[in-house]
Amino acid sequence: MPNCAISTCKNYSRVTKNSGVRYFGFPTEENFAKQWVKACYRRDKINVKNARVCSIHFSEDCFEIPLRQRLLNYQTTNSRVLKFDAVPTLHLPKTPVQKEVSLRSLRMAKKKQILPNCNGPRNTSKLETTCFL
Ligand SMILES: [Zn+2]
Repeated sequence: MPNCAISTCKNYSRVTKNSGVRYFGFPTEENFAKQWVKACYRRDKINVKNARVCSIHFSEDCFEIPLRQRLLNYQTTNSRVLKFDAVPTLHLPKTPVQKEVSLRSLRMAKKKQILPNCNGPRNTSKLETTCFL
């Protein structure tokens, strides 16, 4: 009976049985597995061999539609396959670290914009007046 490894997600198979939510095992490729573990934002260690992440955390383009389904223009959520490089990006816990970084870089960007404007126009007007005299 799988449940979702994302720390803020309450999905487990008994609850989502009829809602089309699926559970995916962690990728075997170590680098991708690490990204999944990061996305889960768990304090305890995750056993990537047993852990599952449910389908609500994957965007549409994470899924591979089998060729036979594509040809017949027939899509069911139940027979969907995750792409090998899919990483959970939706409904994830928000990390406070990410917020801090983006605020700081915003402030830096503002400072850079103000500085050149203070020097620019004054110089040109001085030049113009000396020319007329
Ligand atoms: Zn989940």
